[in-house]
Amino acid sequence: MALEFDFVVVGAGSAGCAAAWALAEANIGTVAVLEAGPSDAHPFVKVPFALIWLMNSRRDWRRKTVPMQSAGGRQIKVPRGRMLGGSGSINSMVWFRGRRADFDAWEMPGWSGAEVWETFEAVEARLTPATHPDPHALSRDFARALGSNGAAPPRPDFESAGVFESNMRGGRRWSAADAYLRPAQTTGRVEVLTGAQVDRVAFEEGQARSVHLADGRVVRARAGIVLSAGAIESPAILMRSGIGQGAHLQDLGVEVQHDLPGVGQNLHDHPAVGVHHAGPRGGYGLSWRQLPAWGLSPVNWLLRRKGRLTSNVVEAGAFFRVSEGDGPPECQVHFIPAKLGWQGRATTWGEGYYADVCLCRPLSRGALRLVSSDPRAGPAIDLGLFREESDLDMLARGFRRLRHLMAEAPFSERLPEMYPGAALGDDLEALKAQVRASAGTAYHPVGTCAMGEVVDAGLKVAGLQGLWVADASVMPKITSANTNAPSMMIGHLGGERIAAAHRP
Ligand SMILES: Cc1cc2nc3c(=O)[nH]c(=O)nc-3n(C[C@H](O)[C@H](O)[C@H](O)COP(=O)(O)OP(=O)(O)OC[C@H]3O[C@@H](n4cnc5c(N)ncnc54)[C@H](O)[C@@H]3O)c2cc1C
Repeated sequence: MALEFDFVVVGAGSAGCAAAWALAEANIGTVAVLEAGPSDAHPFVKVPFALIWLMNSRRDWRRKTVPMQSAGGRQIKVPRGRMLGGSGSINSMVWFRGRRADFDAWEMPGWSGAEVWETFEAVEARLTPATHPDPHALSRDFARALGSNGAAPPRPDFESAGVFESNMRGGRRWSAADAYLRPAQTTGRVEVLTGAQVDRVAFEEGQARSVHLADGRVVRARAGIVLSAGAIESPAILMRSGIGQGAHLQDLGVEVQHDLPGVGQNLHDHPAVGVHHAGPRGGYGLSWRQLPAWGLSPVNWLLRRKGRLTSNVVEAGAFFRVSEGDGPPECQVHFIPAKLGWQGRATTWGEGYYADVCLCRPLSRGALRLVSSDPRAGPAIDLGLFREESDLDMLARGFRRLRHLMAEAPFSERLPEMYPGAALGDDLEALKAQVRASAGTAYHPVGTCAMGEVVDAGLKVAGLQGLWVADASVMPKITSANTNAPSMMIGHLGGERIAAAHRP
């Protein structure tokens, strides 16, 4: 027997939790939230520092790109949260709205900076972002780079450094599942199903009527279906449902419901490249000196919600320019006071610190395609990094400036650069080669169901009834900083607008 609700929200991530809350608040019927992954009830999710063990776990979709010619033929990791809270349950919780001008640049009615700012206020009333009360001394040092006084978080609007704001509460992660989904469940109108991976949407006379799960179950929707499965899965679900580029779908044997070539296109992310420093007296790391502190840290967290386990790892950062002129910064820096990610491993013996620089507004675009109509097969992801030569040039300049910044920041304990190492020097061509050979991303994919191409300003899928997309995939252009807060804003405002459109 099919389950039946008024609305079905697919994906309980940052945006999906907010959208489900908005639909429940509007009191226009019952809402099912279908989440492929498990619950978020795990200490690694709640304890901020433990996020380093969530990547590559069963709570990560563990996607990777196809070999990308423009990035030296490499395949790059595309981690995505797979549980209640979505990527917001494995992320570093760095909190940024972006610049108002980022939203103006979308050129979509109802989504200008002035219009979305009010919704951000509402999102922040629930997520309560704040700077960490006790960051690592190295983060406090870094926060005084670029002439900043270290007292305020950095801003994407002008050159600045600082300790980041993050969405923690009382020393633990406070995700959209905490701030939106669980309060929505108390209305009695929201039912959450975990372990419910959606294969496709089915239609009756152009109206989205049900979702089919990978395990064969069917969930019916009387009023409509909201896809919030994120920038990788929402377009994949649309394609498996017959919505996308007709010829591509036919090749895979998928019956075309609606030829919509924009689905899966316009994929982009913040490309990033990093520098490792290592040596004694560095940041959080594994060393004889730090063993007593690590030993005490679980007790400190459990009893006092204090200490190193409350670190969100990516504690501080900066924004700076690399070209002439007085426009907004083109680059963002993330600073990690720990020896982390060395040779791809979460933890290694030794101490150090790390920083990377990413492009705030890359121009390169990639695309996502299905390899099979089977929902268990992940899509082919091509982030298209550095297809535009100007991105490579600008990130190489950003990398040059980052390495100078690391040499000049007022660290009380300065460590030598371990990778790529001083021998690399300042030559732009050599730096470009290093970027091509080692860059990844900030894990912020967006744009694959872009407003204006795939969905309209009300987030409704073009040409179909009762089907919307509300998540990071609808951003026509990426915002200038981290994308979690904008994704929640999209879920919150999108959910309110879907509910308003549904009211008689
Ligand atoms: C490791 C990492 C670190 C990050 N750090 C930061 C940071 O510090 N600050 C920041 O602002 N941003 C950060 N981000 C990015 C940010 O978390 C995302 O931009 C944001 O969570 C996107 O929200 P979303 O709702 O679009 O997708 P998601 O939050 O990814 O939610 C999608 C949900 O849909 C579910 N789903 C997918 N497919 C299906 C299906 N077929 N059926 C049912 N359910 C499905 C997923 O399991 C997931 O729960 C980070 C991301 C990662 C991965």
